[in-house]
Amino acid sequence: GSTIGILGGGQLGRMLSVAAARLGYRTHIYEPGANPPAGHVAAAVTTAPYEDEAALTRFAGAVDVITYEFENVPTSALDLLEAHRPIRPGREALRISQDRLTEKQFLRDLGLATAPFAPVGTAAELDSAIAATGTPAILKTRRFGYDGKGQVRIDAPAVAGAALDDMAGAPAILEGFVDFSHEISVIAARGLSGDVACFDPGENVHEGGILRTTTVPARLGPAQRTDAVLLAASVLNRLDYVGVMGVELFVTPQGLVVNEIAPRVHNSGHWTQNGCAVDQFEQHIRAIAGLPLGDGKRHCDVVMENLIGDDINRLPALLQEPQCALHLYGKAEVKPGRKMGHVNRVQPAQK
Ligand code: ATP
Ligand code: MG
Ligand code: MG
Repeated sequence: GSTIGILGGGQLGRMLSVAAARLGYRTHIYEPGANPPAGHVAAAVTTAPYEDEAALTRFAGAVDVITYEFENVPTSALDLLEAHRPIRPGREALRISQDRLTEKQFLRDLGLATAPFAPVGTAAELDSAIAATGTPAILKTRRFGYDGKGQVRIDAPAVAGAALDDMAGAPAILEGFVDFSHEISVIAARGLSGDVACFDPGENVHEGGILRTTTVPARLGPAQRTDAVLLAASVLNRLDYVGVMGVELFVTPQGLVVNEIAPRVHNSGHWTQNGCAVDQFEQHIRAIAGLPLGDGKRHCDVVMENLIGDDINRLPALLQEPQCALHLYGKAEVKPGRKMGHVNRVQPAQK
């Protein structure tokens, strides 16, 4: 059997490793932090910084293909790895999604609707950006943001200065506020041969910037559902993408607006573990290993709930619930905002 190298050892790497093992592959995790969740289930773990060229070279030599569960791998590490082994999904998808500005420009160039946006480095640029978008608006760091971190809402031009201070000098982007009715995401996969398979769109609810629940089916009409899936497929095609991607969308009366794309398996796709014969993790492994994709068909309705921080104390009650599948990440330390696991509550498909 061959070995799949995974950059990043969090819960996504853990669940990818489980899926890979089911398909007869070994996984080798590369993770700078100690005791990563994926380390408990992977066949091998390298603990080293992304700057350690010798460790990266040994890792590449020990694996057949490289994927990632973490988008912010330094370019220098990717350059080195790519000289030895294929990286799937490819570098272009990573480059574009690492920076909210290049991401938004890419989506707009594809003809997709996005929030109005402008890059912001200075107070003068922020003033003119606000003049263009109006308020409310959201100022976001261009790089390294997740779970709503590095974002501040601007409700009136008067508080712009304070918002810019919050960016602490990091390059930023201002986005006009999208007046959406709800949020959905499409988890889409593209195989090595170019075939595309999408899972049913899920409806996402965030709390404090962190995904709380994903519900399938999402509230969408047939035309909106088709729009969502075609839109996601066009993003994957344009990138010559191989693997699973999460595409986050706002539903508005004017149509679907793309929020962001994530070039990896996605938290809002965890429902597929109990709603589909082939889940997003197996789908990703199939794609990067060059196997045919599963079709993504949903066999039941699912509500996925993240267990964040102290939610994990509800474990005894969750264990008593019928039709509630548990997925725990094996993290020893509970911290506020830390994703400890999730549950999928299933019921027969309503339609
Ligand atoms: P993730 O953890 O999904 O990567 P993130 O930190 O990259 O999150 P975003 O997805 O950009 O952040 O924003 C988090 C949430 O904030 C969105 O899901 C949405 O609810 C809200 N939001 C972000 N941008 C906008 C916008 N332009 N208009 C309205 N709401 C927005
Ligand atoms: Mg994001
Ligand atoms: Mg998001």
